[in-house]
Amino acid sequence: MIVAAADRVADLHDSLSGLDNCLAVAGGETRAQSVQAGLAKLEAADDMPVLIHDAARPFVAATHIQAVLAALQTADGAIPALPMADTLKRRDQASVVTIARDGLWRAQTPQAFRLGPLRAAYAAWPADQEPTDDAGVMERAGGRVALVPGDPLLFKLTYPEDFAMAERLAGPSRTLRIGQGLDAHRWGPGEAVWLCGVRIAHDQALVGHSDADAGLHAITDAVLGAIGEGDIGDHFPPSDPRWKGVSSDRFLTHAVERVAARGGRIANVDVTLVCEQPRIGPHRQAMRERLAGLLGLPVDRVSVKATTTEGMGFTGRGEGLMAQAVAAVEMPD
Ligand code: MG
Repeated sequence: MIVAAADRVADLHDSLSGLDNCLAVAGGETRAQSVQAGLAKLEAADDMPVLIHDAARPFVAATHIQAVLAALQTADGAIPALPMADTLKRRDQASVVTIARDGLWRAQTPQAFRLGPLRAAYAAWPADQEPTDDAGVMERAGGRVALVPGDPLLFKLTYPEDFAMAERLAGPSRTLRIGQGLDAHRWGPGEAVWLCGVRIAHDQALVGHSDADAGLHAITDAVLGAIGEGDIGDHFPPSDPRWKGVSSDRFLTHAVERVAARGGRIANVDVTLVCEQPRIGPHRQAMRERLAGLLGLPVDRVSVKATTTEGMGFTGRGEGLMAQAVAAVEMPD
């Protein structure tokens, strides 16, 4: 029985469809009212064990449930509880007082009872008071509540740092994947060249169907390679006139979107430009910043390097420019 705010119950019904014996019911203004709303909808014998659990403690495991059920055999209620590890202080106006922690426990959930006695205990609870947990209601009705060892994993998500910890505990395990990309374009007439998304004035231009930005093409192929989604030509066929003369940043943006759609995230990118001209050094930082913007990464995760081939080969002879890139991508398993 999932008890939720009234305006969430319809969504919950959808989420629970296909799960047998799982119902959503509207809760009340307080925790105690919500618990009673859930109890009211249960159809079971009075001696049926009923466990009440805070959804804000998402790391409950079968062992916790088994422990309270076992203790319920010889008690009216059973709850997980942790001893106080820290010294307790009470601050009143100007003074701070140390409180003896001996015998103090932190109550957690799930809390186990039997349906009939728990309903009776709630019925007997004074209307003008607010119980803080179900064990307190049972205690007040004269029931004996057993403590079983609590678990730090049963912590309640209360503060922002609790959510950060929960995300680390619950996050999917990830595998680091590597992709590589290689691209080359021929030099032709022109007055500027696009490299890694930056326009550099030059006495030649690179020739290609798009803007011939070999740096962006290599990085795009590296990202697509890391997620096993083919290459730039598969996604943007050169035969398609839509991509003629287009700015290559849209190719990389597409690859980045594919990573995000798969639940992945790019860890870092490293590209090497191979050419005799133009000189890359003066533009390197601008390229890193441009790439960081396209990739959604801090600049220190983007590397741009350059080398010549000492006059050898097609880059050395000035026939063309080559770019080689690797990308590391963290993907959910
Ligand atoms: Mg290319």
